[in-house]
Amino acid sequence: MTIAIIAHDGKKAEMVAFIKDHTALFQKKHIQLIATGTTGSHLERAGLEVEKMESGPMGGDAQIASRLVEGRIDMVIFFRDPLGKHPHEVDVNMLMRLCDVYNIPLATNHAAAMRFIQTL
Ligand code: PGA
Repeated sequence: MTIAIIAHDGKKAEMVAFIKDHTALFQKKHIQLIATGTTGSHLERAGLEVEKMESGPMGGDAQIASRLVEGRIDMVIFFRDPLGKHPHEVDVNMLMRLCDVYNIPLATNHAAAMRFIQTL
């Protein structure tokens, strides 16, 4: 199972806390992680193996969307910052739209992420 993890800058601290609370789960053999660049670096620092794409504003969300279209992503956990401005908003919207097109579970906040991982 491949899980994409993305966090806007304003939510990175929250994402790191979430990851640290569930490190053992994310280290399980059947779980692969893919992330946008900076988010991925945080995951690595937390001791996780992760495939890193470009940073979000440089196309990382678009790369993850492309993987999703190819059927290679099973779940997206996106710590979105609804109060921030993001130069790559169109990419983010594209990714979320494609989650709906391909029926891929998408968590866009901490509470939803918690519920999602209870299913793993
Ligand atoms: P980042 O990208 O992990 O490279 O910061 C996330 C985003 O803002 O989409």
